[in-house]
Amino acid sequence: MKGSIQCKKAAKTDPEGPTARNTGTGSIPQAVKSWIESEAPSQLGIFERAYRTRSRVAAINAMCLECMGLSRQEVRDCTDRSCPLWNVRPYK
Ligand code: SF4
Repeated sequence: MKGSIQCKKAAKTDPEGPTARNTGTGSIPQAVKSWIESEAPSQLGIFERAYRTRSRVAAINAMCLECMGLSRQEVRDCTDRSCPLWNVRPYK
């Protein structure tokens, strides 16, 4: 059923699930903010831009960082060529 499909990556990282992630208010959800502040505070600006603006680049950067546990090096070394973002991932 189309309405029940959930982002697998989001389900792994956010116990509240994807619906709690982007409230559409333009601000970063507290659960996401707390995670970034504890793991890699220098990456917080990237996520704030992704949530605050409609920038696709910022969204891709944030998605890849989230996918790889906030590690730029891991994004750079990503080998998942089946991912639709692989060709446009940052930090190459
Ligand atoms: S390109 Fe790699 S790092 Fe970016 S979302 Fe896809 S799998 Fe994750």
